[in-house]
Amino acid sequence: MQVKCVICDEVESIEDYSLQAKRLRNRRIHMYLCQSCYERIGKKTKARHETGNFRLYKKPKQKEDLI
Ligand SMILES: [Zn+2]
Repeated sequence: MQVKCVICDEVESIEDYSLQAKRLRNRRIHMYLCQSCYERIGKKTKARHETGNFRLYKKPKQKEDLI
């Protein structure tokens, strides 16, 4: 099946019977990233983890404890 990358609009074809194709058809994943975008984002995410900037997204601890 043909899939379009949501970031760069590159069209790639993936195996019709691959797990990824199955998920896309079932709408369990709504977007597809091509290999290069996937790698780029993966690297960025990893870099962000390493710098500790992910703390910005942390919810206040007290709130979680109350639930
Ligand atoms: Zn892409």
